[in-house]
Amino acid sequence: MLTETIEATKIKTSLLTDSFGRVHDYLRISLTDRCNLRCTYCMPSEDMHFALHSTLMTANEIYSIAKTYVKLGVKKIRLTGGEPLVRKDARQIIELLSELPVELTLTTNATQTHDFIEDFKKAGIKSVNVSLDTFDKEKFFSITRRNDFDKVWDNIHQLIDNNFHVKLNVVAMEGVNDDELIDFVKFTKNHPVHVRFIEFMPFPGNDWKREKVFTYLEMLEKIQENFKIEKLYDEQHSTAKKYKVSDYKGTFAFINTVTLPFCGDCNRLRLTADGKMKNCLFSKGEIDLLTPYRNGADIEDLIFKSLMDKKEQTGGQNFSVPTENRSMIAIGG
Ligand code: SAM
Ligand code: SF4
Repeated sequence: MLTETIEATKIKTSLLTDSFGRVHDYLRISLTDRCNLRCTYCMPSEDMHFALHSTLMTANEIYSIAKTYVKLGVKKIRLTGGEPLVRKDARQIIELLSELPVELTLTTNATQTHDFIEDFKKAGIKSVNVSLDTFDKEKFFSITRRNDFDKVWDNIHQLIDNNFHVKLNVVAMEGVNDDELIDFVKFTKNHPVHVRFIEFMPFPGNDWKREKVFTYLEMLEKIQENFKIEKLYDEQHSTAKKYKVSDYKGTFAFINTVTLPFCGDCNRLRLTADGKMKNCLFSKGEIDLLTPYRNGADIEDLIFKSLMDKKEQTGGQNFSVPTENRSMIAIGG
């Protein structure tokens, strides 16, 4: 009986295996393509058309579609966007998804987290990814086109004080915040945060150029010139190469999507706010799940179809030519 249960579980957990043998158990759900910030690397400066509300998944649709993924083996769900917390029913969505047997987490710009601390706790959220690219108020304004540095700064400290595991996402860009690399590492001295330096990725309308990418190797070299660092163990499927400075409370890592893609171990699937499945951040194609769902169709076959279409690396795209994709804000990072 026990053996049968183990075998059944094994089959169930490996259902979302693509044609390269990669098992997918992590789903990122975008709640909205809207945001209260306007980060230059994320939101196109021109031609940004937001989705109509009627085309977005409702809270119940998100729950129900997520439940299908969980049935197929998803064990971790990250809410993202746009800014997930600007959605009026974000609280309800968090509460609904907390009923699923998954690790629930989110990526946020932390402009609103002060209103959600108790909701996160109630939902069992332990870890929160927060975007912060600079310690400089004026630079924050020039990157995000909004004056919210103080709010974000206070909220990061509030999350830490409330014992959330805070990961700070820093998009590392030459000529923008490369001069703050060392300050971010120093920030880990007395703060138990995990800083993640993300190589600037190309998306339509974000004025990406290879010269603007502050590469993982350049960052590592600069940090090694200033600190004695140790390499930490990287868990399976981790996108980040982790390090720390001995005796510092926090850690840091590099996410080198551009110079050294980590697709071989990818376990991630994405669902856009308008209910399209993307099998990769860089996939050109997407499969509509929401319309068939609304028409009463079974969406499992569509999920498998999208999974089997997944390309071996970076959605089949080559960053040396302009990428065909949605903008980052409309995908959900
Ligand atoms: N609004 C939330 C936030 O800013 O954290 C969640 C959505 S945002 C699209 C998710 C993550 O994508 C953020 O950490 C952001 O820094 C990152 N991101 C956006 N555009 C990027 C780009 N071009 N290259 C690298 N990371 C990017
Ligand atoms: Fe908004 Fe996040 Fe994109 Fe900045 S990175 S514009 S905060 S969605």
